[in-house]
Amino acid sequence: MMRILVLNSGSSSIKYKLFDMTDRSILASGLVERIGEATGSLAHQARDARGKMTETRKAGRVPDHRAGMQQIVEALSASRAGEDGTGLAGIGHRVVHGGEDFTEPTLIDEKVLAVIRKNVPLAPLHNPANLIGIEVALEAAPHLPQVAVFDTAFHQSIPPRAFHYAIPHELYTRHRVRRYGFHGTSHEYVAGRAAAFLKRAPESLNLITLHLGNGASVAAVEQGRCVDTSMGMTPLEGLIMGTRCGDIDPAVHFYLLRETGLSPDELDSLFNKESGLKGICGTNDMREVLEKADAGDDRARLAIDMYCYRVKKYIGAYTAVLGRVDALVFTAGIGERAAPIREICCQGLPGLGIVLDPEKNRAGSRPPFEVQATASAVKILVIPTDEELQIAEQTLELIQRRKENRDG
Ligand code: ADP
Repeated sequence: MMRILVLNSGSSSIKYKLFDMTDRSILASGLVERIGEATGSLAHQARDARGKMTETRKAGRVPDHRAGMQQIVEALSASRAGEDGTGLAGIGHRVVHGGEDFTEPTLIDEKVLAVIRKNVPLAPLHNPANLIGIEVALEAAPHLPQVAVFDTAFHQSIPPRAFHYAIPHELYTRHRVRRYGFHGTSHEYVAGRAAAFLKRAPESLNLITLHLGNGASVAAVEQGRCVDTSMGMTPLEGLIMGTRCGDIDPAVHFYLLRETGLSPDELDSLFNKESGLKGICGTNDMREVLEKADAGDDRARLAIDMYCYRVKKYIGAYTAVLGRVDALVFTAGIGERAAPIREICCQGLPGLGIVLDPEKNRAGSRPPFEVQATASAVKILVIPTDEELQIAEQTLELIQRRKENRDG
């Protein structure tokens, strides 16, 4: 059996999934939460001998990531999935910021760790948490190959005209201020799945991929390579998100600093955690926003209007960037499940060759499916994303390539 463990170590949680790569099935998965807080918890699901998933839960303080990882190792060994680690081919780690240093998944060694550390200032909340996860996993399994898969890597093909900000050039050379983009693993994965769905080679397709989850971003994918994306130096730029404002006049920051006396950190938190859907209508959960809008809530309606208008502007912009678009690809929580949002985002775009069929759009329940009208020149696809599976695939591919190089 060929198994890959995928770890996503956040600031106060560690998510994990164990894949059987012979059939891409999930053997076990789970989440350690509230690390460092008074009460933490572990929720662990594993496939039993009969193939049924069963869940075990454990509550109690998890003092640090090391203790969290220990719990995961124990949970995996206690269930059949663990089986003393035999068959575990490697571990794939999600790493948020690869800066300009990583354009593809990379086998982790001391040098790679040092570069991830160097990129901490670019992602001060995420990279340190990712690093702790890697360090603890290296301690627990020093002989297993471990691979870092970067959220930014897929976007490294974006050309300078799209990644530079129009500010003094030294800020780029000295402080690395530029657009990097995020959700790369998801955009790359759904672009590949969309090509498979259309039975076309990825190199023959131009796609606009719309990852609409709690965080949200768009990517313009030209013949399999990303040429632009909506998130910037940080995930704050671009679309309106659950709690992030997305594109905004940067002068609003200076104005608010002067007018309100908020500190830069407080403003950072205001734009990242209190804005977006939540800031406009009080909730960041799109299901609730849609329910409130249906019940006549004006702010919820405004939130939906603004959200879809922003998406539409990016569809227009990336249509111009790509010149020809073969398909729009909706993915993530909202993209996959919020039919009314897909419909509003595509309204009024026949001029761009984009016509959605409302009935197909509403009827589709289990992605992948397509929702364009017969008259639509551009396909409109709903493709489920699976970042963990993509990390597992890329980890396995790298390990196998390394083995071939060594053996050959
Ligand atoms: P994350 O970015 O945290 O991984 P997801 O991709 O799971 O988030 O997306 C979360 C968003 O998807 C939330 O706004 C949630 O309300 C929305 N969502 C999930 N299911 C539905 C649904 N059936 N209809 C509308 N929105 C949904």
